Amino acid sequence: MSNRRSFIQSLSTMPVLGGLFSTYAAGKAAQAYAKRDYFGELGIKPFINAAGTYTMLTSSLIAPEAVAAYEACSKKFVHLGKLHDAVGAKIAEMLKVEAAMVTSGAAGAITCGTAACLTGKDNKAIQQIPDLTGLKSEVIIQKSHRNGYDHAARTTGIRMVEIETVAELERAVNEKTAMMFFANFLEPEGTIKGAEWVALGKKHKIPTFADCSADVPPVENLFNYPKIGYDLVTFSGGKGICGPQSAGILVGRRDLIEAARLNTSPYSDSIARGMKVNKEELVSMMVALEVFIKRDHAAVFKEWEHRAKQIGDAVANLPTVKTMVDVPPIANHVPHLHISWDQTKIKITPNEVKKQMADGEPAIELNPSTDKDKAVIGVWMLQPGEAAVVAKRLREVLKSAVA
Ligand SMILES: *Cc1c(COP(=O)(O)O)cnc(C)c1O
Repeated sequence: MSNRRSFIQSLSTMPVLGGLFSTYAAGKAAQAYAKRDYFGELGIKPFINAAGTYTMLTSSLIAPEAVAAYEACSKKFVHLGKLHDAVGAKIAEMLKVEAAMVTSGAAGAITCGTAACLTGKDNKAIQQIPDLTGLKSEVIIQKSHRNGYDHAARTTGIRMVEIETVAELERAVNEKTAMMFFANFLEPEGTIKGAEWVALGKKHKIPTFADCSADVPPVENLFNYPKIGYDLVTFSGGKGICGPQSAGILVGRRDLIEAARLNTSPYSDSIARGMKVNKEELVSMMVALEVFIKRDHAAVFKEWEHRAKQIGDAVANLPTVKTMVDVPPIANHVPHLHISWDQTKIKITPNEVKKQMADGEPAIELNPSTDKDKAVIGVWMLQPGEAAVVAKRLREVLKSAVA
């Protein structure tokens, strides 16, 4: 025994071995990891994001406060379920809603929320889906609201029942109807608007779910959309809110949030077990939301307008160039610069401009809605100083094509 103790003591005083076990050395090693150029090592070239919050382009940059929270939480063990409860309660308090949970992105929220409407808290049903034998199996949606993300609802096995009018909706409702899904960014396309959708859901006692993923900013939407009365609402965590890219928020009725929780990790036998959210993401999402709500939104918006003007001004005096600042009404409700020109006077297509900017030095990604008539620049993901770089490069590319 005394031999063993002295062996351990001598270990810890030996410079090399002792050092290996010290937190000091671990800290040093971590610092070296923090400084590594991972993208460079992997042959991945970072770019200036003049596009916006696109998942493919890694969306937004996570808030430094959220990264700090992520790191701090990585150092201890906790009960995941209890942490889920506590973070959910905090977020519910922040957003002034009955209940909330962090999900694996808004898409994860759509799966968990739909599953909740199908299973409630019935364990047998939770384990059974996507086999819907004996369960409800239909989700009503306006035809114009169909979009790729509704796949996340269909994952649960449900069938989308498309309707176009209130009369059609009334006819479509039956004992198999589990939920009424609303794609908020497509509200203008449908004949039934949000408040009426909610009223119809209440009338037929069918839960309503609004996908508001990309609809923040403005910050007020975090509060206003749930207030319309949807039973469930989701927002992406990794878009405008600048939380972890793979996190999202689901808010709404307590019983449904509880059921949604039972349909995902840490419960092994659940449809969304693969949509796990780790402890670091849970807290990091909460912190990102805190920071986002508190920020000076008016000042940030002004800065975005300034960037759009700066880039627009840099090309405005080239022959036939027209610039316009557009703020989409719902999703991505931030200034976007549209640039068009007479392509017989400046002999380049907007898509070719986009390609040259992406292939140039530094690489700059323009907004994917760039088409044959206009180049589109999303300014909200630009970092300090980058608007000037984009302005200069855009002018270069356009100028070199002047006939
Ligand atoms: C981005 C988006 C989603 C998915 O959000 P994630 O947080 O990336 O999972 C779902 N619906 C709409 C309308 C979106 O724009």
